[in-house]
Formats: sequence, C-alpha cells, structure tokens
Amino acid sequence: MLKCLVLNTLELTAKKRDMAENFLSEYKRVLNETCLELPLAMSSTQLHHATYSNIRKTSFLPSDIVQEARKDIWKLGNVLEHNAYTGLNLQNCSIRLNKRWFKYIMTKRGNPCFKITYSPKKSFAIPLKLDMQFERFRKYISEGWEFQNISLLSNKRIAVCMEKKFPKVEKGKRYILGIDVGSAILSAVTLFDSLTHKVVKQLYFGRDLAKRQKRYLERRAKLKSLADKGSHRAIQSLRRLKCKQSNFVKTRSGQISKEIVNLAKKYDAEIVIENLKNLKAQRGNSSKEGRKKINRIPYGKFKEFLESNCELFQIPLVKVDAYHTSKWCSHCGAINSGHYSKNYAIYKCKKCGLVVNSDRKASLAIAVKSLLLRNEHSLTNDVSIQLNRSQVPVNALLRSDAVVDLCSVNHDLQPMESHLFQ
Ligand SMILES: [Zn+2]
Repeated sequence: MLKCLVLNTLELTAKKRDMAENFLSEYKRVLNETCLELPLAMSSTQLHHATYSNIRKTSFLPSDIVQEARKDIWKLGNVLEHNAYTGLNLQNCSIRLNKRWFKYIMTKRGNPCFKITYSPKKSFAIPLKLDMQFERFRKYISEGWEFQNISLLSNKRIAVCMEKKFPKVEKGKRYILGIDVGSAILSAVTLFDSLTHKVVKQLYFGRDLAKRQKRYLERRAKLKSLADKGSHRAIQSLRRLKCKQSNFVKTRSGQISKEIVNLAKKYDAEIVIENLKNLKAQRGNSSKEGRKKINRIPYGKFKEFLESNCELFQIPLVKVDAYHTSKWCSHCGAINSGHYSKNYAIYKCKKCGLVVNSDRKASLAIAVKSLLLRNEHSLTNDVSIQLNRSQVPVNALLRSDAVVDLCSVNHDLQPMESHLFQ
C-alpha cells in the first residue's frame, strides 16, 4: 500500500533558500525546454532523444532528475495539447527525488531533516517542523513503513511517498458483511452469519450524503446560470462550491468506510462489495435521470477508502458481480424487477408479495452470493439456503453459464482442468 504524506518544514536560512530556489528554477527551466519539443514527439522516448543531450550540456542537474522532468512533461502532454501549448503553470511544480538524491538525517541538535543533493557537491538540508504531521510520519516509520522517493514542493515542503507491504489475509470468515452502494444512501449493510444463515444486523450508512449532494447540485445549477450570464462573482462562488462539495464527499466517504471497517473488525467479518464494472453498465442502461442519480454516488472514492482501510486492518475484501442482486427476492428466490416505478427504494416481489427496502435486500443478496461463490465447486442446479425460516433458492444469483460450468466441474473432470472454472 502507498501513502503520501506532506511534511511541513522550518523557515530556511537565506543561503539555503537561495540554493533551493536555484534548484527549483533550474528544474522549471528544464521543464520548459522539454516542453518546447513536446508537439513534435510521438513518444516519451522520442521526447527524450530530442531534448536530453542539449539539456545535459547546459544544466547542472543530474541525469535522472532531467529524466524525471521529461516524464512529468510527457504525462502533462494531454493537458498541454488542450491548452494549445500556451504554456505550463509551473508555479506549483515539484521535483521527485530518488534515494540517490536525498538522505533523512538528524542534525547535531537532534532535529530531523532531509538533505538534498542536486548536483555533485551541491547540497542543502531542509529541517522538518515537529508538528502533528511529523508525528504521523514517525508513527508510520515505527510501524514498518518505508520510503524510496520524496518530492520537493515549490513551497519548500516535502512530500514523502510511504510504502508498506501487507500479508494477504485469509478469506472465508464466519461473518459476511455485504455492502450495497446505492443512490439514496451511500451504503446499506447486511451482516450475515454463514453458519446459521441468519441476518445479524442491517444498517445504513451515509444517508446524509445524498441529501447534501442534491443541495449542492441545486445551488450549482443556480450559480451556473448566473455565471453563464457573465457574473464574475457567480463564477468565483461556483469554483468555491465545487471545491467544498468535493471535500465534503471525500471526508464523508472516508468516515463511512471507516465505520464499516470497524463493524467488520468487531465481528471478525469479511467485507463483500459489488464490482465497479457493473455499476458502469447500469449507468449505460438507465434513463438520464437514473444516470444522474448514479453519477452522484461517490463510488470510486468510497471503494478506494474501503480498500485501503481493509488492507490496513487486515480485513478480507471480496468483490462479486451485481448480476441479479437487485432482482432476486430474498423470501422466495424469484427473479423479478419488483421496483415501484415511483419509488425505486422499495422492492415488492411479484411472486410472493414480499415488500422490502431495495438496498437492504441487495446487501443481503451480495452477502449470500459471496457465500455461494465460496462453495462454487459443490454447487448444483438447485441451491437453496435457509433464510427467514424458509428455504430460499439462491442459484439465480449466479449467471446460468456459471452454474453449468460449475456443474460440469462436479462430475468427471480431472482436478488439473478445474482451474478453468475458478
Ligand atoms: Zn418473492
């Protein structure tokens, strides 16, 4: 897992500041020079050949830092093309440094700092500020996180890229926590006991998120129409609002994923979530209104937070496809789109008449599905499990071709070939 930490630094002495400025401005010059050749280069390698030897003749920067500059420019290529090569905003550029060019050291007085060497015999040390951020950095190091790269930012702060490898966690826990990511609420969660087949708990997380998102969008639409009429103030407010909204969504997604992981920790459960691909497919099929709703779900951010939290706390994370999870009835096992046209949040089974909340039911379906996939080798065409005191057929949750494949595995196939169906 990777984490990036930005460390605050102490005010530099005049001499050091000059050196840092010198280094940064030389890097910017190299960026600009490389940028000039960009419109003609077809690949990153071509860009390298077009610029490298000239720059090396004129610049004091070492070879691998020049190459970092070229990589930065190549990555920015699309943005530049979009701006018709009118130039880069280099105000906020940063310089990536590998282990050869920096050292993490202590001064004689015991203050930690990064010593940066940017050319043979040219080096300066940046002392770190001993604040909360530094405490975090120290804690990571004591927990076994390592760093191979740092970046010197133009405001003289240091971004450290920290890495730690975690052992793979064992799957197949007794408790399964199924998550359905929905549009009305961020997630509905079912805690399912795989031994007794009982639902232990059902919970909602992030009900506030959708409401706030809706309010943001309404305000944005208003400001947008004013901005289109040329109101300068509206343009500014719009920019601020977008920023605020994105921060809010990020914060809440992080908090919610943390709460869910805490619940999983408490029960020693594994977490099951639907695949992103299927959400995209859903997006393609649904109406414009439906698409808007789905786009409002911060699925990507939420999933990212969930993945890193699971890794950090050693909780298994399983992904299943969304096939039939919203159409399957948890009472009789029938497959039907029992949603009311006016209220998508309610599912009413057309066969048995069960009325439930769609998201709750979907999260149960997701938990049950992962249990099925655990035992996929022993599946036959008729699979049912005990739910709500009755036998509920569950094979409809798997794609029929999968069931056929799985059945054939059950019979006379050699074990060697069975990997085809795993
Ligand atoms: Zn039913």
